[in-house]
Amino acid sequence: MSPLRALLLAAALSACGLVGEPSPEIRLQTVAPQPTARAPVPGSGAGVIVFTFDDALLSQLDAARLLEDHGYRGTFYVAAGQLRSRYSYVSYASESEVRSLARRGHDVQSHTVTHTDLVTLTAEELDKELRGAKAIIEGLSGKPAGHLAYPYGAHDDRVVAAVRGVYQTGRASSADHPRFWQEVLEAGDRFRLPALVVTATTSLSQVERYVDLALQDDARLILVFHNIRENPAGYDWSPQQLAALLAHVARRDARVRTMSELFASD
Ligand SMILES: [Zn+2]
Repeated sequence: MSPLRALLLAAALSACGLVGEPSPEIRLQTVAPQPTARAPVPGSGAGVIVFTFDDALLSQLDAARLLEDHGYRGTFYVAAGQLRSRYSYVSYASESEVRSLARRGHDVQSHTVTHTDLVTLTAEELDKELRGAKAIIEGLSGKPAGHLAYPYGAHDDRVVAAVRGVYQTGRASSADHPRFWQEVLEAGDRFRLPALVVTATTSLSQVERYVDLALQDDARLILVFHNIRENPAGYDWSPQQLAALLAHVARRDARVRTMSELFASD
């Protein structure tokens, strides 16, 4: 591995919260909600739960099996340049594992190429991240990649305008906060889709409460997961918690959809 590549990988891993300091995604807790229109987005309504997984982490392959046990499928937001190869970090899924997810009916979507904060990029760099990732991911999955998750949830008007030219939706990320559900109910911009990042400090009952609210309010709940592993810390959640949540969703007979399914009629 070249020194530059090693440096980039170390930066990407650190940025993802996989090693070292807490992920910058933590800062989202204090970001003021974006103003949103009142009109519901197509695909909203009728108590839909979307399980999304960011960064194509190896442990998510087990999570995919847990979903499959219930006949559910998830949406996997993959940073196209960050998949495991003989040159890169072992915690990522490989290209063939991502292909296998797609073959099994999971939704493989875009988390850019290098997992960079898009707000910091020039127009040209931004375009490369958006179009480059879409091409690579569609090549892997053999299906359209029309959905993007902003790395670190970071976006502004300029980024959103660029994403609008390439993708169908943009998923933000939010920590649990008092106005989260209000944001979900008011979400009117499909390029600023609110989604709840489930972390080690998020309890099972907290997430179950949002599932119940989604059913009660005919709303769309997008959940974001990172590593699914034992002894969760930081951005992890445990396989037991995920299994219990899936059982709760099944008991409630909630509809589980992928992003592609949700926006298929657009
Ligand atoms: Zn990420």
